[in-house]
Amino acid sequence: MQERGCLLPFIVILLVTVILSSGCERFQKEQASSPSVDFFAMNTFVSFSSDQATGSDFREIQTLVADIEKIFSANLKESELYALNHSKSMSVSTECAHILERATKIAEQTDGCFNPCLGNITTLWDVTGNKYVPSDKEIAAAFAYTAFDGYTVSDSVVTKKNKETLLDLGAAIKGYTAERVMALCKEKGITSAMINIGGNVGVLGNAPKKTDGWQIGIRNPFYPDTLAGYVNCKDTVISVSGAYERYFEKDGIRYHHIFDGATGMPAESGLAGTVVIAKDGLVADALSTALFVMGKEKALAFYNDSEFEFEAILFSSDGNVTVTDGLQEKFMLFQGAKFADNQPLVLET
Ligand code: AMP
Ligand code: MG
Repeated sequence: MQERGCLLPFIVILLVTVILSSGCERFQKEQASSPSVDFFAMNTFVSFSSDQATGSDFREIQTLVADIEKIFSANLKESELYALNHSKSMSVSTECAHILERATKIAEQTDGCFNPCLGNITTLWDVTGNKYVPSDKEIAAAFAYTAFDGYTVSDSVVTKKNKETLLDLGAAIKGYTAERVMALCKEKGITSAMINIGGNVGVLGNAPKKTDGWQIGIRNPFYPDTLAGYVNCKDTVISVSGAYERYFEKDGIRYHHIFDGATGMPAESGLAGTVVIAKDGLVADALSTALFVMGKEKALAFYNDSEFEFEAILFSSDGNVTVTDGLQEKFMLFQGAKFADNQPLVLET
């Protein structure tokens, strides 16, 4: 996880949201009352709530998140990924090997729009740290190590083509963790829970006192203190990516944290934000980033052809909102949600 700093997650549990639309006050109140634990991990805010969990459940969930971070963090010196980033080849845990294999597959299928080997670029830009625009020469130098197929995995031994290549799983591991937390809840007999890991939300069963899953507020990428709408979902992971999440501005230009592996520059694809919903948390998270890089047309073609099971909401920079077939009945855009002064977001049909 290459990200630093704490930012408002795009998806929010509704109780902590500034509610500007009266339409969402009702379900905010209904879903807001469960006991919860809030902590900082994976360089972001984590919030878990369940009215069925005990104190020891809360502690176990916190430990699970910390254990996953100890494998996949690019920043923690004791992590496996950190060691791998400083080696050419090394033996890793089965879990690490498995996730790296799956990351390669998603990278291949998305044509590198999700790229687990982009660490040299994300480190160079260091969007929430240095706030410095690298030169073309620096980008070209980093770029030499960022081919998305920059490593192989065999019998849990990971070998990088270049020792200098830095892996960064910050675009995928929070969604994976959300799914793992939901799985742990199920093992413990918990049937209703929600976890939010920096905008990657896992929901299990039904919200308290509800029979039809959860209503998850979707942040408006154009006015991130407000909601654009909500989506109904159950037993799934919802991941978001947005240009407004982590960025800095220099000479009037915004440089954000999602990079186009083809250029080494912040992706400019005509999208302001993406939401991906999938049972598979790694897929949800990796694809939220990949679709953002692809842009709307490619993302919709990918949705139609891909072997991955997912649904998506795409916020275009011109204020159009596109939802995939499986969300037509499940996503509600709030009346009055805007993309610019006095101009409403428009749901494409
Ligand atoms: P997300 O918020 O899930 O879209 O992930 C963004 C984070 O993933 C960034 O802060 C980088 O650490 C990393 N990243 C940026 N661009 C990419 C990309 N195209 N593929 C994979 N990881 C990326
Ligand atoms: Mg992602």
